[in-house]
Order: sequence, then C-alpha cells, then structure tokens
Amino acid sequence: MITSYDRNAQAVRMLRVGFRVPVVVAETGMTALKVRRMARDVDGDGRGRSGSMPAAYTMAASSSALMDISLFAALYRSMGGEAVLRSIDIEILISAYNLYLEVRESHLSHVKPVLTDINRAWVIARDIRSDLAWLETCEVDGYHLTVNEQRTPLGCPWCQCRRASSRKRSKGTTETAARLSREG
Ligand SMILES: [Zn+2]
Repeated sequence: MITSYDRNAQAVRMLRVGFRVPVVVAETGMTALKVRRMARDVDGDGRGRSGSMPAAYTMAASSSALMDISLFAALYRSMGGEAVLRSIDIEILISAYNLYLEVRESHLSHVKPVLTDINRAWVIARDIRSDLAWLETCEVDGYHLTVNEQRTPLGCPWCQCRRASSRKRSKGTTETAARLSREG
C-alpha cells in the first residue's frame, strides 16, 4: 500500500531530479496544486516546471534522433526487464537516463541529443508502457525503438546509419554505441 508519506517523498525526490509538475502528478497521483507548491519549496520558485509533454514520435524526426532515443530505450529495457512494458519504475528510469548521458557522451556525441532532459526520457518510458512505442530487436544491434506515428523509415536505426555511412565510405562509431546499448 502506498501511504501519503511515500507519495510525498516520491514527489520531492522526482522534483529534485528535475521532473516537471505534470510528470510528478502522473506518477504520484497527487494534485497539480499540491505538486506545484512542493516545486516552489524545492526550487525557491516553481517556474519552468509546467508545460505539456511531447509525444514520442516528435522525438523520432530523423534516423539519428531515433538512434538517440533507442539508446535510452535499450538501456531502460535492459535495466528494468519486462516489467517496464507494464509500469514505469522511476528509480530505473533515473539510473537508465544517467547511464544514457554517459554512453551518449562517449559514443554518440556526433548525434544531436534528443533526450535533453529527464522529462523527455519519461515520455519514452510512458509510451513503452502504454504500447505507443515498441522495443524491437535487430539481430546485429539488439533493441531499437519504433514509435506510434513514426515519420522516419521503420527498422533498425543503427543498421540504417551504417548503410548510410558505408555509402559515404566513412567509418562511424555507431556500431560500438549499439553494442554498448545492447549489453547495457
Ligand atoms: Zn541493426
């Protein structure tokens, strides 16, 4: 059973990590008014905490963007197991996001970052849970993400990137990043 103390502690923890009010409301079941008050206590002011969350497909606007969100999704799925298909585990999400930042820094820095804050990572986790984004497996690269209403070509973004770079006859580092995401 979740007590109100647990809910408050969870909300404060989430606000300290940088989650926005609508996300904290969705995860804790607390009212927006109460969460906004808590945000003011945590921040000094509550500005920059509101605003609606984008849909995942807006974050998959190109193959390289899909690669970026796939990296996070693969880490989140590897760390959280099948449970992430049914519910969001905030602690796993935070750990996976921190690892994503490290891996993207060392292996995907040539790609423009899509998950620029943890709220966008939450959108991916939410859409995986809601069956609006799907983890699919490539034989070579492991997990990649496909999202509802995706406008970019379907299939493994790592393979697409390799095909594109072999057409350009240049070597990329995407293979390593893909392998890392698979091994988690
Ligand atoms: Zn692939």
